[in-house]
Amino acid sequence: VQQVGENTLKELLDHSCTSGSGSGLPQLVQQTVAKRVMLVDCIGKGRYGEVWKGRFQDEDVAVKIFSSRDEASWRRETDIYNMCLLRHENILGYYGSDMTSWHSCTQLWLITHYHRLGSLYDYLQYNTLDYEQMLTLVHSAAAGLSHLHTEIITNRGKPAIAHRDIKSKNILVRSNFSCCIGDLGLAVIHKQESNLLDLGHNQKVGTKRYMAPELLAETLNPSFFDSFKCVDVYAFGLVIWEVARRTGEYPEEYKPPFYDSVPSDPSFEDMRKTVVVDQTRPVAPNRWFSDLVLNQVSKVARECWSQNPKARLPILRVKKTLSQLLKSVQLLTQQDKALKIENLEKSC
Ligand code: ADP
Ligand code: MG
Ligand code: MG
Repeated sequence: VQQVGENTLKELLDHSCTSGSGSGLPQLVQQTVAKRVMLVDCIGKGRYGEVWKGRFQDEDVAVKIFSSRDEASWRRETDIYNMCLLRHENILGYYGSDMTSWHSCTQLWLITHYHRLGSLYDYLQYNTLDYEQMLTLVHSAAAGLSHLHTEIITNRGKPAIAHRDIKSKNILVRSNFSCCIGDLGLAVIHKQESNLLDLGHNQKVGTKRYMAPELLAETLNPSFFDSFKCVDVYAFGLVIWEVARRTGEYPEEYKPPFYDSVPSDPSFEDMRKTVVVDQTRPVAPNRWFSDLVLNQVSKVARECWSQNPKARLPILRVKKTLSQLLKSVQLLTQQDKALKIENLEKSC
């Protein structure tokens, strides 16, 4: 353990991941990490407790603290992060988990990369975006979700994972405007070969405001894994709409989806009436129709939130369309810059 004391957090955890405790929680991490992380600031409160900014030597980390009452949620999120091949630039980077005590209460920690810009929800409150930033955000989030949804079949492969709680508060913004997906505590896992669907202990089904019509109508078939992927895509459509509103020269103010049709803490029944009975969806503001980029992005959002789950786009398609749009916008920006330089040179 002393020798480990000189290593960086990453080395410590990489080592512990291969040492394997068999309990789903690396033994070495249990013994060493929490004691050496200093909690600095509380940066978030969610369903299962608090998230803190912490310091480990000279690295910033984020520490999600669960109470012992929520041990099952902590264990679930830990198990999912420990899964092989989960690492991806658009999935929140995981360092490790620990069980520690604070004033003789057991605390369960989940330690991840820290993102100072916070969640996409937080970011959109105070910032507006240009086209390139908007497309970088949504494209990278789609890439993260697409990595989750895809099963990788090799001997140490990755099962398909559906997130089940996609929303702007569970997507974090990195400093280069790309995003990563966090809060994997409700995820479900599927292995094609065995056709095993692992729902975990947790039957809570996500955030009401973002619930797909089939969840609200209680018609979803839980034994069919693709149903959960369609639920994620529906919620992703709502996220695209939230981001698009904050984009361009005349952005709309930040609003959550259905801000104009349900109360601030909507009940299941409020959402069911709006989404299932009235089939309401977020409205595209007028300016989007005459805006080439926003018009396209809005079309993608609509194709994500279809009433019929089977009519929704697969997330891989969403990612590819957003990638093409991003490339076109980048090209236009470059041409625009080149033109400006040319004009400047002429006028000199
Ligand atoms: P819960 O399961 O309780 O909803 P989350 O994992 O979603 O917990 O975290 C709650 C909030 O804490 C997020 O919405 C975000 O604002 C903040 N947060 C979580 N993880 C990080 C992180 N790694 N870096 C910065 N902020 C974070
Ligand atoms: Mg959350
Ligand atoms: Mg959660």
